Amino acid sequence: MATTRTILILPGDGIGPEVCRQVRRAMDWLGRARGLSFTIQEGLIGGAALDHSGVPITEETMQQALAADAVLLGAVGGPKWDGVAFDLRPEAALLRLRSELGLFANLRPAKVFPALADTSPLKPDIVAGLDILIVRELTGGVYFGEPRGIFDLPDGGRRGVNTQTYTTEEIRRVAAVAFDIAATRSKRVCSVEKANVMESGRLWREEVTQLKAERYPGIELTHMYADNCAMQLVRDPKQFDVIVTDNLFGDILSDEAAMLTGSLGMLPSASLGKADRSGRRRALYEPVHGSAPDIAGRDIANPVAMLLSLAMMLRHSFGLMAEAELLETAIEKVLTGGMRTADIMAPGMARVSTGVMGDSILRALDKTQAAA
Ligand code: NAD
Repeated sequence: MATTRTILILPGDGIGPEVCRQVRRAMDWLGRARGLSFTIQEGLIGGAALDHSGVPITEETMQQALAADAVLLGAVGGPKWDGVAFDLRPEAALLRLRSELGLFANLRPAKVFPALADTSPLKPDIVAGLDILIVRELTGGVYFGEPRGIFDLPDGGRRGVNTQTYTTEEIRRVAAVAFDIAATRSKRVCSVEKANVMESGRLWREEVTQLKAERYPGIELTHMYADNCAMQLVRDPKQFDVIVTDNLFGDILSDEAAMLTGSLGMLPSASLGKADRSGRRRALYEPVHGSAPDIAGRDIANPVAMLLSLAMMLRHSFGLMAEAELLETAIEKVLTGGMRTADIMAPGMARVSTGVMGDSILRALDKTQAAA
């Protein structure tokens, strides 16, 4: 865990700055009410950086990100930059950030607040109280494996090739992240692959099993084939706690799990790198949603995904479990009290702006803290 708390905030484009404003307010609250000190830096990324300096992320911002204990990112992109050269796209900054920070573990919680169980496409009793975490390997596997390409064949046809490849080190480091997090939750990990038809899947299963035997005797480990996992996630998602899986299956399964919760505006994420000797990991926290250009500038975006990303930062980068829970509890209370931004609006509830949602969460923080 980092002992300093230098945080780089990159609001980005569209609704990014609107939701990041609410994060700043929550961090001010944490300073005031909990005595936490953060050194906060702010920078440009995506289209905002492109407009300002001609590149989607400057070297200076990259250096700040590499030196920070955690990066909080809003969102990048928008129609204004759709026509720019491929390597100058706002999204290129995000890819560069993820790659240079060495973020190999992507954490995607799928949590259904009881007050929002009705917004899930599944029956409320299947998802009410759901709280699972998918740990996806992010820098290896079939998206990066060599050889890759489209090759001409002598018969005039073509052959598309991608290679699924994993090494012991790649599997063990992401599995260790999953086991470490499971130790702070209900101590259950389900490892997901296709060991029945893929050698890389067989290796995945063997290495995860070995790691558990060596270092995590207190964690219950189960294995599941990815196709079955996709089915179980809609049939009975509450059977899971932490799921660890590779890049390709994680891409698909984390989006499937996200849908269980009903709204993009509620979904946070974290991406973690390797821990150094002091236990500090490079880390990027961001909502799953994009820059939502269709609603940008109207003060109607849901800030909850961004605020839950802040809660993940408190928990995973700084071990501030009580503060993370406080923030999550305050959000839950506001939702239970009937406040809704437009994306999660339901009959009989009060429709509020981004700013009013932020105000309500700050008030709920005050009350929750006073009651503790
Ligand atoms: P999006 O997530 O921005 O929006 C999809 C839909 O969800 C929109 O209708 C939007 O209004 C709504 N929505 C998203 N977040 C919301 C919130 N917090 N509150 C209320 N409603 C919300 O995805 P998109 O429309 O496919 O992409 C828009 C832009 O964002 C594109 O330029 C895309 O490349 C970019 N993008 C960036 C990221 C990122 O920065 N990590 C991720 C996805 C998309």
